[in-house]
Amino acid sequence: MRAAMYYGNHKLEIEDIPEPTLSAGQVKVRVSRNGICGTDLHEYYDGPIFIPPDQPHPLTGKSMPLVIGHEFSGVVTEVGPGVTDVNERDRVAIEPIYRCGHCRPCKTGRYNLCNSVGFHGLMADGGMAEYTVVPQDQIHQLPNSIPLEMGALVEPMSVAYHAAILGEVNDQSQALIYGAGPIGIGLWFALRGMGLTEIDVVEPSPTRRNAIEALGARTLDPTGVDVPELIADRTDGNGVDAAFDAAGVAPAIESALECIGERRPLISVAIYDKPLSTPLINLVLRERRIQGTICYTGDDYRAVIALMAQGHYDTTGWVETIPMSGVLEQGFEELRAGRKMKLLVDPTA
Ligand SMILES: [Zn+2]
Ligand SMILES: [Zn+2]
Repeated sequence: MRAAMYYGNHKLEIEDIPEPTLSAGQVKVRVSRNGICGTDLHEYYDGPIFIPPDQPHPLTGKSMPLVIGHEFSGVVTEVGPGVTDVNERDRVAIEPIYRCGHCRPCKTGRYNLCNSVGFHGLMADGGMAEYTVVPQDQIHQLPNSIPLEMGALVEPMSVAYHAAILGEVNDQSQALIYGAGPIGIGLWFALRGMGLTEIDVVEPSPTRRNAIEALGARTLDPTGVDVPELIADRTDGNGVDAAFDAAGVAPAIESALECIGERRPLISVAIYDKPLSTPLINLVLRERRIQGTICYTGDDYRAVIALMAQGHYDTTGWVETIPMSGVLEQGFEELRAGRKMKLLVDPTA
C-alpha cells in the first residue's frame, strides 16, 4: 500500500510498504481522508519534535521512520480478536490518543494529559496511508449523514470543542476568538453549538476574515480597530466572558488579556514557538487567568459528531482535498505559505 513515511527533517517519502497486520483488540481501517495538521508541518520543517527519533515510545514501541497522519476517517475492513462493538464496513473517525490507563490523569478521565500520552501518526504508524491499524478504543462511529470528508475534521474540531468547554461559557456569554485558521473556525462552530451568539473573531488576514465571514461569523481587523477599546465600549467596561487564542502571537495575547472580564479565562490553544514577553500585570489586577488546553477526550468527539450529524459544521471555502502524490507541493508548501486553510489528503490518489 502507499503511505507517507517520515524519515526526519525535510524527509517525507510516498512509498509502497506492506499493509499493517492486526493483533487482538485492534481494528484495520481503510483511510478515506487524512487532514494535514500544523503539527505535521512542524515535524517536517522543524522536527523531529514529537516523533521519537530513536527511543521507542513506551506505549506503542515505535520510533522513526513512521507513517504520519493523525486526523483521519475511513471504513473498517477487519477487526481483531476480542474487538466488540466495531464491525467491518463501519464508517469511523479515529481519536488518535494512546494512553496508559493507570496514571493520575488517566484515572481521573483526563487521558489527554496522560503522563505517557502518544498519538497515532506521531508515535505509531498513522493515517496518511491506504490502511492503518488502531486500538478499538480509538474508534468513533460516524452516522451515515456525516460524509467521510467531514469525518476527517472531527479531530481538529474536537481540539477546538475541548478549548471551548474550558472557556466555561453559556448561551448568554460574550466571547472573543483570536485567529481564524482551522482551530479558530472550529472554536466559532463549537461556541455557536453551545448557543453563544455574541462572538467576534479577531484576524488580521483579509483572506481568513473573508473565509470565516462567509460562514456567518462577525470579525474584527486588529490592524484597523483598537480591539480592547471597542470591547470595553461594548461591554460597559466589563470585558468578555472568555477569550481564545488560536493565533499564538504576542499581539493576540496582549489584546486578549485586556479584553477579558474579571476572574475570566484566556484559553490558549496555540503552539507557541517562542517565549512571549507580555505584561502579566493585566492578569493580577482583574484576577484574570490563562488556561492551556490540549487535544480532547471521547466526550469532545461525541459532542462534535452529534453537532455534525445535525449539519452544524460547514466546510465551504476553507477545506479542500488533494492527492497523496502531491502532499508536499500541493499540501505542506501551500499551507506553509498561507495560501490554503485546511487540506485533506486522499491516500488512493
Ligand atoms: Zn493535529
Ligand atoms: Zn496515563
